[in-house]
Amino acid sequence: MYQTHKAIGILGGTFDPIHLGHLRMALEIYEAFDLAKVHLIPCYQPVHRKQPAASPEQRLAMVKCAVANEPALYADDREIRRQTPSYMIDTLFDLRAEIPNTPFALIMGIDAFLGFPSWHRWKELLELVHIIIAHRPNYHLPSTGIIADLLNAHLQHEVAFLHNHLGGGIFLRPITALEISATDIRKQIAMGRNPRYLLPDSVFDYIKQHGTYSIVGSKHET
Ligand code: ATP
Repeated sequence: MYQTHKAIGILGGTFDPIHLGHLRMALEIYEAFDLAKVHLIPCYQPVHRKQPAASPEQRLAMVKCAVANEPALYADDREIRRQTPSYMIDTLFDLRAEIPNTPFALIMGIDAFLGFPSWHRWKELLELVHIIIAHRPNYHLPSTGIIADLLNAHLQHEVAFLHNHLGGGIFLRPITALEISATDIRKQIAMGRNPRYLLPDSVFDYIKQHGTYSIVGSKHET
C-alpha cells in the first residue's frame, strides 16, 4: 500500500450513502491531527445496526466517487473484500499487518462512541488504536458510567501522543456541525425530493444512474 510514520485515521461506517457530514469530519480531523491519510472503510455487514439499503458494492462505489479528487481521503475496500461480519478488531489486525509500526486512530461521532463498549473485543481494541471523537450537535458525553470512566482513563490532549504511541489515547475534537444523516437522505430520495448539497454531486449522480434508494422513475431521473 504505502509507508508512513504519521498516524492514519480510520472512519468506518455504512456510508448508505456517504454524505458531506462524513467527508467534512474526515477532512477536519485529518488536518487537525496532521494525519497521513484518513481511510474511509464501508462495512460489508454491520454488526450493530440494521442492514443497509444499498449493496456493499454500491456503498463502496459511492465512497470512491466521493474521495476521487481528495488525496487526504482513501476509499478502503478491505471489509467488503473480506465478506464477513464487519468487526473492527479484524479490520485493524488486517491494517496492522499491511502497514506495521504506524499509529491508527478510529474517528467516530459521539453517537458512535456511546456504543463503543458494546463493540466486539473493545477493551483490546482500545489498546491497539487511538480514538478521536468528533463533536457533533445535539450529542453529549455522560459524566458518569463506563463512557466517563473510559474518558478519565484515556483522554489525551497532545497531538504528539497520537503520533508517538500506537494506540491507547482518546481525543476529543470539535468539528463543523453539519447535521446531515444518511437516513434522512434516503428518505428524501425515496420521496422524490432533491438531496443536492447534502452529499457530493458525484455521489448523487451515481445514485441517479444506478437507481439506488428507489430513485428510478422519480422526478430526478435524467
Ligand atoms: P444513518 O443515518 O444510516 O444511521 P449516518 O449518516 O449516521 O447513517 P454512518 O455511516 O452510520 O452514517 O456513520 C459513520 C460515522 O460517521 C459514525 O461515526 C457517525 O457518528 C459519523 N457521522 C454520521 N453523520 C455525521 C455528520 N453529519 N457529521 C459528523 N459525523 C457523522
